Amino acid sequence: MNETPMRARALVDLAALRANVRVLRARAPQAQLMAVVKADAYGHGAVPCARAARRAGAAWVGTATPQEALALRAAGDEGRLLCWLWTPGGPWREAIEADVDVTVSGVWAVEEIRAAARAAGRPARVQLKIDTGLGRNGCQPDDWPELIAAARAAEDEGVLRVTGVWSHFACADEPGHPSIQAQLGVFRDALAYAEGQGIEPEVRHIANSPAMLTLPETHFDLVRTGVAIYGVSPAPEIGTPQELGLRPVMTLSASLASVKRVPGGHGVSYGHHYITPGPTTLALVPVGYADGIPRAGSGTGPVLIGGKWRTAAGRVAMDQFVVDLGGDTARVGDEAVLFGPGDRGEPTAEDWARATGTIAYEVVTRISNRVPRVYV
Ligand code: PLP
Repeated sequence: MNETPMRARALVDLAALRANVRVLRARAPQAQLMAVVKADAYGHGAVPCARAARRAGAAWVGTATPQEALALRAAGDEGRLLCWLWTPGGPWREAIEADVDVTVSGVWAVEEIRAAARAAGRPARVQLKIDTGLGRNGCQPDDWPELIAAARAAEDEGVLRVTGVWSHFACADEPGHPSIQAQLGVFRDALAYAEGQGIEPEVRHIANSPAMLTLPETHFDLVRTGVAIYGVSPAPEIGTPQELGLRPVMTLSASLASVKRVPGGHGVSYGHHYITPGPTTLALVPVGYADGIPRAGSGTGPVLIGGKWRTAAGRVAMDQFVVDLGGDTARVGDEAVLFGPGDRGEPTAEDWARATGTIAYEVVTRISNRVPRVYV
């Protein structure tokens, strides 16, 4: 893995991603699978990940913004694509021209899509989003009849076709949380109402990774899986990736940039939050918070060097952090593995999440573009 002398690299194992997609499809055999590749595929690279997911049978690819969906089209993706983050000004006309399904949550959005579809000279494919209880994006149930009426009118005019009705969970990562069943109830009612008004969606969907993994009744026609396709667990209570039959896709490593002896009592990194307890060897890991390593990992972030777990000594800086090798030594250029699948003894993204008080989603997604992705 260490043939290329690089400061740092994020190895992206596309075979693992394909295997994860197949495992997930087998767990929701009646539903289609949407590979969620927003935010550059949670840091893994949207174009190669979408391509790999398609190869493994993902019928749909999902993004947040229309720009993300258009970038996939520009890269040659020809399958069904849904984007869901409505913002005024689109680019909705371009999305319609590129056959991207777009999400609307209110009459104002139907109006804008209607105008964009007229400009594009073709009907827009639209999915209606109901807020069943997340309290974020989505149509309030009280406003649902008004949205359905606007969508039906636009369908009759021939400028729009409703291809989907969907929602999103608030607490799917806490199995058994009462809001899950409550949201499902609202969703079923909203679907029944829409269908009663003549809406005939191709796909009805509500499940993200944690819901699809824990509750088959959430599968409907389509499951929108993001984090699980990258082999990352949605939450510790749902299981480790291994327990879920998933393989972590990203391995983040760096080449040690310096190894030096220092005396005891030596302050390490900004603020001197670590003082060497005695004469020791310090190794420099040349990645920092500009690479997406959480500064909250100062003093806690784990890294595998020479077969042993070490912890960031003192502050994680913008471009580098230090580890105290104690009585051991290492050589410049040796590999420091911050996280990976864990089977070589390295920490996982879940370990970094625990060490830094965040979720594993954030650990992988925040790895910045300064770290080259290496696809295998
Ligand atoms: N659906 C929507 C609307 C989302 O915003 C996301 C991601 O947050 C997902 C699905 C995928 O969620 P997960 O990564 O938990 O599978």
